[in-house]
Amino acid sequence: MFSIQQTRVIPGLLIFIVGVLAGCSEQTGISYPESSISGSTMGTTYHIKMVDTLISESQIRATQLRVDSLLLAINQSMSTYIPTSEISRFNQSTEINSPMKISPQFAVVLKSSLDIGHLSGGAFDITVMPLVNFYGFGFKKAAAHLPTTHELDSLKRFVGMQHLMFTDSTISKDTPELSLDLSAIAKGFGVDAVSDFLAASGFENTMVEIGGEVVCCGYNKNGKSWQIGIDRPYFGEKPGEVLQHVVALSNYAIATSGDYRNYRDVDGTRISHTIDPRTGKPISHQLASVSILAKNCMLADGTATAVMVMGDVEGLKWLEATPEIEGLLIVRLSDGSFREFLTSGFNQFLVH
Ligand code: ADP
Ligand code: MG
Repeated sequence: MFSIQQTRVIPGLLIFIVGVLAGCSEQTGISYPESSISGSTMGTTYHIKMVDTLISESQIRATQLRVDSLLLAINQSMSTYIPTSEISRFNQSTEINSPMKISPQFAVVLKSSLDIGHLSGGAFDITVMPLVNFYGFGFKKAAAHLPTTHELDSLKRFVGMQHLMFTDSTISKDTPELSLDLSAIAKGFGVDAVSDFLAASGFENTMVEIGGEVVCCGYNKNGKSWQIGIDRPYFGEKPGEVLQHVVALSNYAIATSGDYRNYRDVDGTRISHTIDPRTGKPISHQLASVSILAKNCMLADGTATAVMVMGDVEGLKWLEATPEIEGLLIVRLSDGSFREFLTSGFNQFLVH
């Protein structure tokens, strides 16, 4: 096993999982056997719940081994903290226009990343790595200062999806400095991969969570939709301490991006780990968190970061125009209170 620092993609937000809301079980009296698996991956934790007829200890152990190796393979492909990973090899390469073969799973994430990138008008951009490194959220030592205009201009020259050439099985770059960062979407992909693996293994009622990104399939132990809590975005609060809402999900994913758990103070300025690739600067608007509901977690994860970059006004408008994705945006007001905005379809998922 290697250390967390090496395996880290980036810790995300933890959404508190509300296993049972008292009312359901008391009213119906139904309670199916539930098994849990948890562990570490991508610099954060994962939790799995499976509701079924009784699952034996040995079957749980065997399932956990398979899940861990599946997650290790994803990290070995997409973690910028592992120098030998696929993504690191590409990032380190200085060869231009020289196609590098990529694995099928890397291609899937890359394709979705580029789709979200283009649909969001470049708010989401996996070529943001040089900026992420500069601001101290990447694999390199951070600069001790905010970038000068000159530094910002030089960094931005290497950022942009047009510098990346992608076929179904290869990638290449047109400038040696181009480097990729899948941290904003890899957790979501990992959740989907684990969820799909469990379904293929015959488990129909599952909840899979990695660092706050979640997919729920089937039903919970009370025979109801799974209930997932969304944190109120207080600085310094632990996941699950204060909930803004609870949503009921079945065969749906939720992912959250926020400004309140991963930030640094540089030159007296609080800087977010979410960077606006269009300006090259960390976001600095009043949007505190974005929770996205979508059919798969990879899409939800990437979209949450895209909307976080856009801010509340542009983000809400864009979400309303994007089919099959719903969002909850929480804005922090100057007096420290919060105001929320929901897309029109989000309401139906809320547990009132
Ligand atoms: P959050 O849960 O807040 O979205 P994630 O871990 O999912 O956090 O994504 C944040 C990470 O994504 C950053 O640490 C950085 O590595 C990367 N990132 C930052 N800005 C962007 C962007 N505009 N597009 C794509 N990736 C980004
Ligand atoms: Mg994300």
